[in-house]
Amino acid sequence: MPATIIDGKAFAARVRGEVAGHVSRLKADHGITPGLAVVLVGEDPASQVYVRSKGKQTVEAGMNSYEHRLEADTRQEDLLALVGQLNADPAVHGILVQLPLPAHIDSDLVINAIDPAKDVDGFHVSNVGLLGTGQKSMVPCTPLGCLMLLRDHLGSLSGLDAVVVGRSNIVGKPMAQLLLGDSCTVTIAHSRTRDLAAVVRRADIVVAAVGRPGMVTGDWIKPGATVIDVGINRVDAGDGKTRLVGDCDYDSCAAVAGAITPVPGGVGPMTIACLLANTTTACCRANGLPEPE
Ligand code: NDP
Repeated sequence: MPATIIDGKAFAARVRGEVAGHVSRLKADHGITPGLAVVLVGEDPASQVYVRSKGKQTVEAGMNSYEHRLEADTRQEDLLALVGQLNADPAVHGILVQLPLPAHIDSDLVINAIDPAKDVDGFHVSNVGLLGTGQKSMVPCTPLGCLMLLRDHLGSLSGLDAVVVGRSNIVGKPMAQLLLGDSCTVTIAHSRTRDLAAVVRRADIVVAAVGRPGMVTGDWIKPGATVIDVGINRVDAGDGKTRLVGDCDYDSCAAVAGAITPVPGGVGPMTIACLLANTTTACCRANGLPEPE
């Protein structure tokens, strides 16, 4: 039986619709409009695309979007001063500093300068600690989106074997924490993992967040497993064109898996939808109002 295609695009549209509904109630009932500030330093082309799309979707959800575009040679102290200003601005409920930052800037320092209550990316060390100890936190958007897709498709995740390939702070590690929080038995694999294929083959849930096109192939997948492909890789498509592919070799994995996210149209759209949801949550918390479900 062919794998079910997990339609992240449709799911994300639903999440954005729910966020927009919540935002309009916040406006109507409390006169509050959630605001998201996005800071971009430099001209990394991929980051520019992400920032544009974040701004557009923020406005479409009825929120205020504040974009700060800084020169690539911006001094670290000036960036920190801007973060301080946004921390103090009551109209800003969420702050996102687009990564990667230029090499002369200490990313950890900047991220940890964001007020944790406004850290809608969930990268501040306080939020990382809260998530790791099962306390209420801001949860990183991409792993949160993956978890929502998994819960929607599988219902309870309790007791399932999950393998997360990749151990980055922004995807792999928080993903593993979330799966653990849902009572999966979690393995985190990485570039030093021995016999990765055998490790992945044990998994009921595979989350691939590596950045290597098509690395995970169908013969690594346990029949019926659910495959979440986080990878976004631009590859040559001939004739001077490029296309996006994931970390999983789609055709061979889909032939064995029970369900799989496509690239594009899987995890990608969920990331911004979760960013909007986190911003609404931050706004509700800041105003002592009930949070969206
Ligand atoms: P990083 O480069 O930060 O981390 C990659 C991880 O993959 C590392 O832990 C690395 O291991 C591991 N790895 C690299 N090579 C191998 C290998 N041969 N075998 C096993 N593990 C390996 O990437 P990110 O986590 O930031 O992103 C991963 C992918 O997800 C990228 O394609 C990125 O574009 C995409 N992405 C997509 C998002 C979305 O919205 N859908 C959002 C964020 C990222 P080690 O630690 O040992 O080096």
